[in-house]
Amino acid sequence: MEYRGKDLFRRVGIPTPRGTFAATPADVRAFIAANPGSWVLKSQVMMGGRGKAGGIRFADDAAQGEALAGELIGKVLRNIQNPAGEEVKALLVEEKVAIASEAYLSITVDRAKKSPVIMVTAQGGMDVEEVAADHPDAIAYYWIDAAAGYSPYMARQLAFDAKLPTGFHKAFPKIVGALYELFMKYGANLVEINPLVLTKDGSVIASDAKVDLDDNGLYKHPDIAAWNTAAPADEDQAAGVAIGLGMSNYAKLDGTIGVIANGAGLGMGTMDAIRTAGGAAANFLDIGGGAQAELVRKSYSLVVGDPRVKALFVNIFGGITRGDQVARGIVDARAGHDLREVPLVVRLTGTNAQEGREILAAAGYAPVETMDEGAARAVALAQGTN
Ligand code: GDP
Ligand code: MN
Repeated sequence: MEYRGKDLFRRVGIPTPRGTFAATPADVRAFIAANPGSWVLKSQVMMGGRGKAGGIRFADDAAQGEALAGELIGKVLRNIQNPAGEEVKALLVEEKVAIASEAYLSITVDRAKKSPVIMVTAQGGMDVEEVAADHPDAIAYYWIDAAAGYSPYMARQLAFDAKLPTGFHKAFPKIVGALYELFMKYGANLVEINPLVLTKDGSVIASDAKVDLDDNGLYKHPDIAAWNTAAPADEDQAAGVAIGLGMSNYAKLDGTIGVIANGAGLGMGTMDAIRTAGGAAANFLDIGGGAQAELVRKSYSLVVGDPRVKALFVNIFGGITRGDQVARGIVDARAGHDLREVPLVVRLTGTNAQEGREILAAAGYAPVETMDEGAARAVALAQGTN
């Protein structure tokens, strides 16, 4: 949400309007009474396009602030991007700035070019989608070589290409640099300032903030990971999250072969191999990167706990995930008394695969060599022909 994004902006030195977070109309009233002036009440929801959806209002005194806050809190904001709507639970109350010009600035990953790209247009604000559709040439791009990093000349080039009003020019390189620092340091998919405002008194300030971080990097920033209070959407997500997996690392399917793999790509490849061998996966479970024995043990229990699972295929291509940790987790799980006996097939390659194989061998278990071999074994075991 915007107020979280602005928290991150301040950490890297991007100027934002002063303000406060408010959860009730009484909070808004008290804040404006103590800080007389003109304020913007901004609905704190995940969806964009709040301005057009009626989620941004202006208040000139405490009574008006309280009344508008009462209208906003509890209101369901809707637009084409979010037809189901989202209820407003809290507001950001920010100093209303006098706008001379609204620009747009964002950084995202250009997957095709495998590089971060900075995007700028002088026509920022609420109609930026139309600008992108009708005047694509009004958007300036700069692809950054991630190894070489950011230099201020890039922002000067962008300001020139996008024809930013000269009032932006002095502050712009530092803001772009700070946004790039944020993008890299916190592992973002997207950072966006729309509008980046040039005020009538000549300062440049981030009036809005959008930051989309890659969940896979969040473990490096536990304070930010704790912001994520999104509730699991279904039982499978909840079961995965309960053992320490990410929201989308575990899903039940309708076959009979349990699948545990590291990485979503390998997980999907494993399901394909099972399909090719004439079977079907009972689930998809991605232990992620660098899983320790304890997570492997819990994942094993989760999958085997599903009564439809007739055989289990653990397919690990070790990188940061270590074969010995995986093997230890499997052996620990099988030593547990509360689990059903389910035929097991393991394929283990990469980091510490040899150590892992020794741990499995000591427990009386021999892994298979290849994914296809493992898939065929698992299908045969699930059908009870082997
Ligand atoms: P969004 O619609 O969800 O992207 O919300 P924004 O934070 O971008 O606000 C929408 C629009 O409200 C902006 O494009 C501005 O036109 C207007 N707005 C927001 N804050 C201010 C402010 O401090 N002063 C003025 N004059 N307009 C503002
Ligand atoms: Mn905006």
